Amino acid sequence: MKYYKNFPLRLLSSFRIGGNADILALPETPEEVQDVMEKISRERIPWVVVGRGTNVLFSDEGFRGMVISTIRMRGTRREDGRVKALSGTSLSSLISENLRTGFGGIEELVGIPGTVGGAVWMNAGSFGVETGRFVKRVRGILDGEWREERPEFEYRKALLPSGFLIVEVEFEFHPRERKEMEEVLRECVKRRKRTQPLGEKSAGCVFRNPPGESAGKLIEDVGLKGFCMGDACVSAVHANFIVNRGNARAKDVLELVKLIKERVYEKKGILLEEEIRVIPEKVQA
Ligand SMILES: Cc1cc2nc3c(=O)[nH]c(=O)nc-3n(C[C@H](O)[C@H](O)[C@H](O)COP(=O)(O)OP(=O)(O)OC[C@H]3O[C@@H](n4cnc5c(N)ncnc54)[C@H](O)[C@@H]3O)c2cc1C
Repeated sequence: MKYYKNFPLRLLSSFRIGGNADILALPETPEEVQDVMEKISRERIPWVVVGRGTNVLFSDEGFRGMVISTIRMRGTRREDGRVKALSGTSLSSLISENLRTGFGGIEELVGIPGTVGGAVWMNAGSFGVETGRFVKRVRGILDGEWREERPEFEYRKALLPSGFLIVEVEFEFHPRERKEMEEVLRECVKRRKRTQPLGEKSAGCVFRNPPGESAGKLIEDVGLKGFCMGDACVSAVHANFIVNRGNARAKDVLELVKLIKERVYEKKGILLEEEIRVIPEKVQA
């Protein structure tokens, strides 16, 4: 089991932002996750779990305690369309495996850069398809105990108890023609390339879309497309993305978030809500 001291969290974040974590744990198996959780509970260590860090903003001060990342815990077991995936498996490898085996459903999620655990926790979605629709069961650890849940899902959210660490997800996919899947994959990749700042450092969409509205359109309408605070800029390609143009700090991103919320509220009467997860320096043990 690998622990790293004073680990620079920017290396674990697609924003490339964040100070050092006291400890980073990279479990490779469910048993190792259990060992980590036992250590945490024995030593009363504050903790947080992440996958690939593609939807989080770490603090400039880092994290006092242990950050657990599941990225080394990968693998799937398949029985036709029933797939059990360890939570660190990348969504993209799951999609590729589905294509090979002829079972589909989540092709529209191609290009979402996270893990299975992150996609379930966030109920990641795109082009009208959401992860939660295919989830039958999740297995994980809550308060030191193994638990199985059949969660309900809302827009960008799994209704799982806070503190639940997802270890394995059981999906159910359906047979789909390979040609049809390839066509969907091609089309979605094309649309993503056209509409998102893919080569840049970001954490995807910063705000949830308010009912019936597009957060990106609202931000554009209030004239903030391209606006920067330090190196943190509202993307000129998609205004719901904030991109790190070099050495942006979490502080810059948070100030920009605050300004966007104020401006959209003032001019449109709509209070935007963050979709990205802001991880503070300190949490309760
Ligand atoms: C270029 C780009 C494009 C994107 N496009 C989309 C998109 O189209 N649609 C979309 O929905 N999102 C999109 N995202 C956001 C992000 O990729 C997704 O939310 C993804 O599912 C997050 O996965 P992750 O492994 O990186 O999770 P992280 O960012 O590491 O974590 C996200 C949240 O999930 C929790 N979490 C992660 N793993 C676990 C676990 N094992 N157990 C319990 N909780 C866990 C974390 O605590 C955190 O609260 C995009 C991001 C980028 C950078």
